[in-house]
Amino acid sequence: MIHYKTQQEIEIMQKAGKLVHDTLEKVSLWIKPGIMTAELDAIAEEYIRSHDGIPGFKGYDGFPATLCISVNEEVVHGIPGKRILKEGDIVSIDCGAIVEGYYGDHARTFAVGKIPDAYQHLIEVTEECLYKGIEKAVVGNHLQDIGYVIQTHAESHGFSVIRSLVGHGIGRKLHEDPQVPNYGYSGRGLQLKPGLAIAIEPMINLGTHEIKTLRDGWTVVTVDGKVSAHFEHTLVITENGPLVLTKE
Ligand code: MG
Ligand code: MG
Repeated sequence: MIHYKTQQEIEIMQKAGKLVHDTLEKVSLWIKPGIMTAELDAIAEEYIRSHDGIPGFKGYDGFPATLCISVNEEVVHGIPGKRILKEGDIVSIDCGAIVEGYYGDHARTFAVGKIPDAYQHLIEVTEECLYKGIEKAVVGNHLQDIGYVIQTHAESHGFSVIRSLVGHGIGRKLHEDPQVPNYGYSGRGLQLKPGLAIAIEPMINLGTHEIKTLRDGWTVVTVDGKVSAHFEHTLVITENGPLVLTKE
């Protein structure tokens, strides 16, 4: 069941969106060779709590940290810990926070120092996929119009789209209806209406789209060990077009 948001709810979600945006900005300043992923997590938790928020992922289904930090072939849901980032890594950082009972959800993939050109290309195309998807989040379009443009753009560059993880509705719960796949057919699926709040989050792989979960029960990795990138914004569909909430 879809909960369409009122103007009042959208205003609260803007606060949650700004907080996750600002948290990732803050964390991004510390991404460099030699930093431990647990340090990035501590910076994020401190920032969220000192700005009247609650980390949205910590304790969610038992997840132990504020950020999901996924390095190289890790796709999403990586657990921060003693791992030290090194030159040439790419790192996907996903941040959730709750403000006044509503969630914001936002992710970006960063380069650690100098990275191979192919990794840089993957990062750029994945971010482009996100913005192309957002452009389709307008009243009257269909849900799969979003996934269609994401898939088309990624595959036109020779990359692959993960099928078994998708974007989602968002609000009082982190994951609400509907699911927002990063693939699909133009003109299919739910017709988009004002008040629909969704997280669009392309997860794009350099190699195969196939993934698996490690024995820690969380970390999702590519089956072929090739790198993956992830960008995510929370937005709401309005009469005036898509309103991205995870921004300044
Ligand atoms: Mg996320
Ligand atoms: Mg999400």
